[in-house]
Amino acid sequence: MFRQARWDEPLIFELSRPGRRGFIVPEIDPAIKEAVGDIKIPAKLRREKPPELPEVSEVEVIRHYTRLTQMSYGVDNGPVPLGSCTMKYNPRVAFEIAFDPRITMLHPLQDERTVQGLLEILYHLQEWLKHITGMDYCCLHPAAGAHGELAGMLLTRKYHELRGQLDKKREIIVPDSAHGTNPASASMAGFKVVEVPSDENGNIDLDALRAAVGESTAGLMITNPSTLGLFEENIEEITRIIHSVDGLLYYDGANLNGIMGYTRPGDMGFDIAHINIHKTFSSPHGGGGPGAGPICIKDRVVDPDKNIWLHDLLPGYRVVYDEEKDMYRLEGPSKHSIGLLKTFFGNVIPLVWGYVYILSLGARGLRLATEQAVLNTNYFVELIKDVRGYSIPYGPGRHRKHEVVISAEKMKDETGVTAEDVAKGLLDVGLHAPTIYFPLIVKEALMTEFTESETIENIEEYAKRLKEISQIAYTNPSKAKEWPLSTSVKRIDNVRANHPKTLAPTWRIYLRKMRKADSNV
Ligand SMILES: *Cc1c(COP(=O)(O)O)cnc(C)c1O
Repeated sequence: MFRQARWDEPLIFELSRPGRRGFIVPEIDPAIKEAVGDIKIPAKLRREKPPELPEVSEVEVIRHYTRLTQMSYGVDNGPVPLGSCTMKYNPRVAFEIAFDPRITMLHPLQDERTVQGLLEILYHLQEWLKHITGMDYCCLHPAAGAHGELAGMLLTRKYHELRGQLDKKREIIVPDSAHGTNPASASMAGFKVVEVPSDENGNIDLDALRAAVGESTAGLMITNPSTLGLFEENIEEITRIIHSVDGLLYYDGANLNGIMGYTRPGDMGFDIAHINIHKTFSSPHGGGGPGAGPICIKDRVVDPDKNIWLHDLLPGYRVVYDEEKDMYRLEGPSKHSIGLLKTFFGNVIPLVWGYVYILSLGARGLRLATEQAVLNTNYFVELIKDVRGYSIPYGPGRHRKHEVVISAEKMKDETGVTAEDVAKGLLDVGLHAPTIYFPLIVKEALMTEFTESETIENIEEYAKRLKEISQIAYTNPSKAKEWPLSTSVKRIDNVRANHPKTLAPTWRIYLRKMRKADSNV
């Protein structure tokens, strides 16, 4: 029986009382004062008013946040089988290492000679990612998957620009199963997005692709295995078609869990790929922290006369090893670079988490993680495929890789119970919902991914609950509309939560809205 804690928890600002403190800044040591005199902060750096901070004691802070975590759910409570978004267990050893003050207390402008340890970590991570993706260069700079995509699209743009063909290379081809960030990144970089459909087996429709490709094709973005969890069977033919018109192939490697250690974007013929450290390589994400989305490239000549190569276009800095001086150095951005997208190396902490994950598993361990993730998915498919109301569209007999998309369309048609109701039914028993309503080409989609973190018992438990939900849907559908009842927050109003009139992301905005509401009374 599951019941989540429910606290009537005020905002931390509402707990504030003037003069309460959680930390008292010590008086300056008299000896130091005598040695350096009065420390004067320059007037222009001083604030006129103290900042608006909540005034609370340490115990209040601890209790406040502990209560909030009790009303929440994360991968430390149970499975988070979010398809595409790979939520793995985050090994504690990685936290231990990444939060070592020898990493967290470094300043990015410190002399390189004093940060050799961190540079060595980042250098090895770069090298390993090259091996894992089969690429020639990796750059750790972008801060997220979508950020890596934008970098990749800007690279593609610059590639065509330097070759004097940007005026005709205007289009990026994206399959209809793509992650939403793909068309968004392509259009942010100034391209027109051309969508190609999937065939009934979940592969890209090759005839449609051939019809879409032409002089104006700047490149193609895909994820393989696709968001349906299916490996693209015609990948070599696809790369050949795109390369034949001098287009670049972009690999969305947000999730490598279906192929890591088995095949590589570089071997499939891709030119640019990003990797989400915060998915495949375990760093927490979403509410759990910032991410890192390195991009890797297969080198190719951009302008033979000027000797410009694709790696010259990479953003930000790369770590290089100077053999002569036996030290690590930062290099870049070069003259032809697309520039800086982020300060320095991007987000270092998630990069260190990824480094520890790879180092602790080793090459064999990474392969095993892939095997386990794929086995988990296909075992789950076996448990769920004949349950009433669910189906597995697109190549139902094909093996899935790291994830599977189940459709609850039949259930909805026959009982009115939707994918969202199914998701709420999972929350009601203390499980996390899968990704729902994505990819868009599957109606009433429940996109599920267990990763290598979950045990056979957890997967069976999940399937069992989905079976129970189906039984309830066919016998008492109105009950399904009430879920969840055991969570601290009941069913939320999806629209209201996102409405600009009600959304108050900061305390100041909240106060302004409250004042406005008062004056309207
Ligand atoms: C998560 C994801 C992205 C975007 O990554 P962010 O770090 O969230 O920006 C892109 N493509 C796919 C397939 C993803 O799963």
